[in-house]
Amino acid sequence: RLATIAIVGRPNVGKSTLFNRLVGKRLALVDDQPGVTRDRREGDGHLLGLDFRIVDTAGFEDYDAATLPGRMRVQTEKAVREADAALFMIDGRAGVTPLDEEIARWLRSEDTPIILVVNKAEGKQGENGLMESYSLGFDNPIALSAEHGEGIVDLFDALRPIV
Ligand code: GDP
Ligand code: MG
Repeated sequence: RLATIAIVGRPNVGKSTLFNRLVGKRLALVDDQPGVTRDRREGDGHLLGLDFRIVDTAGFEDYDAATLPGRMRVQTEKAVREADAALFMIDGRAGVTPLDEEIARWLRSEDTPIILVVNKAEGKQGENGLMESYSLGFDNPIALSAEHGEGIVDLFDALRPIV
């Protein structure tokens, strides 16, 4: 059985961009508009010789502090619970936002192992975001550029013990 890896995080951090890179096809829609991924998408992920199932989630895109559990959030929770590990993605340029903190609190309450991924970290731009990300309380955050393919070896090192 292939291990299953879910990608979670607030809208627009680059989840679908990473999904597409790992699957090698443009299966997930990438858009500047938040909320484009309407349902969860699965594919066969490949990374430097690792093979796994990868799930791109839509949850939290209809997040509203007043009405926390929406239908899509329920889908995302299910995807994380069923996964062998989850990539929790934040935007290294934007830094840690209140929604990131909310998602982190929820992920810490789940049993699924979490790999914190600080995306949009190409060049020097991700360094502040990477430092800030330690406040979310996950060990060994990874600086990544899903769009430009930087940090892929670090992602490989994090996934290898799991898949
Ligand atoms: P999602 O909502 O989390 O699935 O995010 P998307 O994958 O749809 O990406 C949202 C936006 O971020 C798009 O405009 C992407 O081109 C952009 N993006 C994704 N990854 C990167 C990256 O590594 N660096 C930069 N600068 N932009 C990125
Ligand atoms: Mg998406």
